Amino acid sequence: MLQMMLDLPYKFRCAVCGGRWSSTHPDQGPCRRCTIERVKQTLTQDDWKRVDTLLRRDDRLGCFDVIEQAAPDDFALGIAQQIVDERRRDLGLRLRPAIAEVTLDAVRQAAGPHAERVVAIEALWDGDTHGWFVVLLAITRIDDGDTPFGEVHLATLADEDGDARLFAGKAPSWPEAAKATEIGDDLAKELGVPFFFASPDSPDDEAERWWDTA
Ligand SMILES: [Zn+2]
Repeated sequence: MLQMMLDLPYKFRCAVCGGRWSSTHPDQGPCRRCTIERVKQTLTQDDWKRVDTLLRRDDRLGCFDVIEQAAPDDFALGIAQQIVDERRRDLGLRLRPAIAEVTLDAVRQAAGPHAERVVAIEALWDGDTHGWFVVLLAITRIDDGDTPFGEVHLATLADEDGDARLFAGKAPSWPEAAKATEIGDDLAKELGVPFFFASPDSPDDEAERWWDTA
């Protein structure tokens, strides 16, 4: 059954930016980044004010509610989490937890409610105007018509130096990728599923996804 699902074509071009987009859903037009930008544009100034107020209280769930009300059609938890993380950084609040604060215990808790449906743990690169970061996801089986898999956001790992290290003449060592690999692999072993990271050695947001690799 799994093999049958994996034979489906998963590679598409993003309808907005034209970038390669691995999707579980053939009708899904925009890539992850373009979906995030579209949701951000949907939020009104009042919405952003509410998000900012909630963020300062560290009320992430409240933020997700605001985003879901503003963009119900595009809403997905992973998308909302990323928007909130980026906004936090724009506000100069501690943007993302320091790499050291992302622990196996924390990602285990995030994956916990979905553990029975997890088929893989995946790390992938994403980027915004502040630079590259690694997102750690649990891939879940959802068997919902055309859409066999879903994503659960477990953690976002960003190095505090951002891309400044590229200009500082330091050879980038990508500690966020190393940490994501270590924790992702440990969690995958606990759950008895594969760990997948297509490009652990250098940032690439068009790298193949786990569901491309059957
Ligand atoms: Zn796109």
